[in-house]
Amino acid sequence: MKCRIGLISGDGIGPEIVREAKKVLDKTAVKYGHSFSYTELLLGGASIDVHGVPLTEETIRKAEMCDAVLMGSIGGDARTSPWYRLEPSKRPEAGLLGIRKALNLFANLRPAYLYEELRAACPLREDISAAGFDMLIMRELTGGLYFGERKTEEVDGVLTAVDTLSYNEHEIRRIAKRAFDIAVKRRKKVCSVDKANVLDSSRLWRKIVEEVAKDYPEVELSHMYVDNCAMQLVMNPAQFDVILTENMFGDILSDEASMVTGSIGMLSSASLNDTKFGLYEPSHGSAPDIAGQNKANPIATILSAAMMLRYTFDLDREADAVEAAVRQVLKEGYRTGDILSEGCTYTTTTQMGDLIAARI
Ligand code: NAD
Repeated sequence: MKCRIGLISGDGIGPEIVREAKKVLDKTAVKYGHSFSYTELLLGGASIDVHGVPLTEETIRKAEMCDAVLMGSIGGDARTSPWYRLEPSKRPEAGLLGIRKALNLFANLRPAYLYEELRAACPLREDISAAGFDMLIMRELTGGLYFGERKTEEVDGVLTAVDTLSYNEHEIRRIAKRAFDIAVKRRKKVCSVDKANVLDSSRLWRKIVEEVAKDYPEVELSHMYVDNCAMQLVMNPAQFDVILTENMFGDILSDEASMVTGSIGMLSSASLNDTKFGLYEPSHGSAPDIAGQNKANPIATILSAAMMLRYTFDLDREADAVEAAVRQVLKEGYRTGDILSEGCTYTTTTQMGDLIAARI
């Protein structure tokens, strides 16, 4: 298969971790007979340094010509980097919001998986973590409270602020379909999270999700209120497969789910639109404190590349091979500094990439 992949190395540790993910992709291409071509794209601070702005039309145009984009991370240290002396719309993060919008990326996926080998880092009680967990949070990314009308005004002499939470049936249907499509590739369970006992937007959410579910009889659908879900994530995370939810609930729950894994350097993510296109990136930031030191954990980016193989290119066998190689390396006791524990072998960023690529 021929795949055109955009590469955004980005800032901080970005170039180091993207280099390792590319190494693993190249090995996968050789092993399984594919041809991956790469286009370098500038975003964030790296784009400011060259063009004075964090996102250019050229980057958007080139990204649109790719099948998928793999990104490291963008941004710098806000206290010291000159990028943060620019007005907010010209700072690195504005580039990321801009590209998500330009490419209409409305579905954000964040897996939270507990590796047996890293169980000691999990902050949950041992009897809970012993069951393990493997869930994926699908968050709506372009609607809801963060994009609704807002205003602050004085009403009868009292300052009053209003934010609006709005969803239409099309927005709900397209993300629900995405969630069910992905559940079909996993353990075939969708838990839709809402606040339908209070909010109209949630009642519409539930109605449309139930309609979509009819097209997926093999997938088991359940509903959960968001407050209960926040509790269940720490009491019994093993129960979840795909969690489907709106923007703000997903923002909060996906951070909670990733934190219970305890390992920030291991967490991948994807943002998808209604074609096969996706932007794949680790959940962590650009870690300026360790940039350029060959210390960063590249696994989140390598696992993001595996998601790209699975969700954009439908190369499930190849994605399985990358994930299995990561598990194997952990089983053999290799660790970057962030996940290092007693009795394990310290590896640099480059060594970790080599070890994983060698096991494909
Ligand atoms: P961060 O995730 O970059 O770092 C938090 C801590 O985790 C640091 O101590 C860092 O060294 C460590 N860490 C992160 N990733 C690691 C890895 N792969 N291996 C080993 N250690 C790792 O968060 P921050 O320090 O709050 O933000 C730094 C910059 O990243 C900021 O400019 C922020 O805006 C940006 N950021 C970008 C994204 C993105 O590109 N999507 C996401 C979050 C933050």
